[in-house]
Amino acid sequence: MGLTRNSTGRAPADPTISVRRVGEKGKIVAFAGNPNVGKSTLFNGLTGMKQHTGNWPGKTVEIARGYCSTEDCVMTLVDLPGTYSLLAHSREEEVARDFLCSGLADLVVVVCDATCLERNLNLAIQVAEITPNVLLCVNLMDEAARKGIRVCPEVLSRRLGVPVVTTDARKKEDLSALKQAMAGYSGGQVLRVPYAQPLEQAISLVMQMLPSDLPNARWKSRRLLEGEEKTEDPGLQAAVEEGRSLLQSVPEKKRKDLAAEAMVHLAESVCREAVTRTKSGYRDGDRRLDRFFTGRRTGYAAMLLMLGVVFWITIVGANGISDRLSAGFAWLERILRRICVQSGMAPEIRGLLMDGIYRVLTWVVSVMLPPMAIFFPLFTLLEDAGVLPRIAYNLDRPFQCCHACGKQALTMCMGFGCNAAGVSGCRIIDSPRERLLAILTNSFVPCNGRFPALLLLITLFFTGSVTGFPASVLSALLLMTVILLGVGATFLATRLLTVTFLRGVPSSFTLELPPYRKPRIGNVIVRSVVDRTLFVLGRAVVSAAPAGMIIYLLGNYPRQGESLLLQFGRILQPAGAFFGLDGVILLAFLVGLPANEIVIPIVLMAYTQAGSPVSMGDTAQVGQILLQNGWNLERAVCTTLFFLMHWPCATTLLTIRKETGSLKWTGIAALLPTAFGLMSCLLARGILGLIRWLL
Ligand code: GDP
Repeated sequence: MGLTRNSTGRAPADPTISVRRVGEKGKIVAFAGNPNVGKSTLFNGLTGMKQHTGNWPGKTVEIARGYCSTEDCVMTLVDLPGTYSLLAHSREEEVARDFLCSGLADLVVVVCDATCLERNLNLAIQVAEITPNVLLCVNLMDEAARKGIRVCPEVLSRRLGVPVVTTDARKKEDLSALKQAMAGYSGGQVLRVPYAQPLEQAISLVMQMLPSDLPNARWKSRRLLEGEEKTEDPGLQAAVEEGRSLLQSVPEKKRKDLAAEAMVHLAESVCREAVTRTKSGYRDGDRRLDRFFTGRRTGYAAMLLMLGVVFWITIVGANGISDRLSAGFAWLERILRRICVQSGMAPEIRGLLMDGIYRVLTWVVSVMLPPMAIFFPLFTLLEDAGVLPRIAYNLDRPFQCCHACGKQALTMCMGFGCNAAGVSGCRIIDSPRERLLAILTNSFVPCNGRFPALLLLITLFFTGSVTGFPASVLSALLLMTVILLGVGATFLATRLLTVTFLRGVPSSFTLELPPYRKPRIGNVIVRSVVDRTLFVLGRAVVSAAPAGMIIYLLGNYPRQGESLLLQFGRILQPAGAFFGLDGVILLAFLVGLPANEIVIPIVLMAYTQAGSPVSMGDTAQVGQILLQNGWNLERAVCTTLFFLMHWPCATTLLTIRKETGSLKWTGIAALLPTAFGLMSCLLARGILGLIRWLL
């Protein structure tokens, strides 16, 4: 069975994954390597795809496929999750190992980091021991050169018996050299790792019983001796027993390490010959930065400062763009309305198109898009520079206190971009209990679709009459407070789950801190603006337009008497009012299930059904509409809190269902933030009531 390509090019993380060769000369090329060595960057460069790249280990959790053509053939490229060894400790390592062992690949490109070749060679040696078709790609050569590390590809190639290509994944020429090497590869031999005496003897004993043309016979023999593989063949079993008796001379504790030691020795000796260092103390800069970003006193302050600055830039930048966009849309609306009238379009259709679809779409574009288009690239820059894992490192302790895993901090950070991505990212957490904790609490941090709405509410109701620079700083601080509230709620919800449904001791894990890297500013900005923009616009069309239509119809039918919208609103009014909202707001959250971006436009459309058309991009006018419909400080606080904590959007819920495979957990993932949101609304109402009473 060939896999069908989905829109993202990702296949489910399935060990039985199968891929197709394209045409007779087609090749299947797998990319393997330790995490964070630039596999996805190379893969994207060769296939023109856009797999997630970021400067931290573990972000690639799925197998991705793409195609890359040369004059002679089309190569099917498979990007495997990062793995340190083929011993498979985690699910991702298992996926990578099973694919490599399946023998499906015509060529395995093992990508290594030139700045820490010795450690990376371990995997390369393990792969070269299994399959004869290996090409070594020593990447990050530019970084190595900066650090005064020189790698000699000829020596590597001679010692390991495989072709070697050196690359800077960000350079086009290097990518085409790699492509040519991949296309021109014509087969090699498996690597013979020189094992210490008793193991070498035992292996040759077992190998005699295996077919002589079996390419991975040495590796297979070792696995049989280690008990990792079983055999039904009595002759082979007898050889294995005999081999094991030879190994009896080695103390039990050392037996398992024999093979690993041989590989480490080989890697060390190859690197001694192939790598030269001309600078010492090249990590001093990184160490200094680490002392600042992860220091006891400075770590949290640095994190808050970065968050504050990112929000401030977002707010200042977005305001101007939003104003200009909404003025443009208002101008276009006047023209379109005139055209509609002149063309004799029926008023119902005109209303549906202009008051329904056009308004919601232009809202999404003018109000939601600018903050996203600024925040996301900034966030990606921090990720590319290597700051994200430092944040996870800092948050490890609080998560451990909640009996959860520190890696949850990374998935939480991913949730800022998109909760669905954050939920998929939870696969980096090995323990099923801790992974579930991270999935269930991911939507406590507001995604890109929610925080522009939070920003709008803050600007309208909380910064008051302050203007200019102080207003932007105040908005940034308030937005940060709301986000921190979300983070606090994540801790609380996690703790709550660990004392109820998901009890257990937190597992220990190692989080490798990657080197700081100069982010590719142009690339990151273009990539995230274009990707995000298209993504959001796509979502706006598929969810906002129908939602706008539905709300318009609900608001205008039946023609006689009270509209359906008002009827629904009235039904929900008591519940809404009890939690400091109103019926319309609750309805908007329900109708806005497909995408959080459309909640506020639905509220505005509902309020202005009977009134004259308003330009929803105009912040002052939006404020007026809300005030006219009974909004006050209390309602603004409660709506903000409910925005922060309510059921995840439909896409996230579907992702949770897929990741957990359980409707029960999907239900809990929806109920948990909703319960937190409603409780905090009640709490806020109580506190505000108390303040009013005291004053
Ligand atoms: P993966 O985990 O192996 O898929 O690694 P990624 O492709 O996500 O790359 C990790 C980080 O290294 C990203 O920040 C990349 O931009 C960066 N990177 C990848 N290749 C190179 C390279 O050749 N030179 C430099 N300077 N950075 C690179």
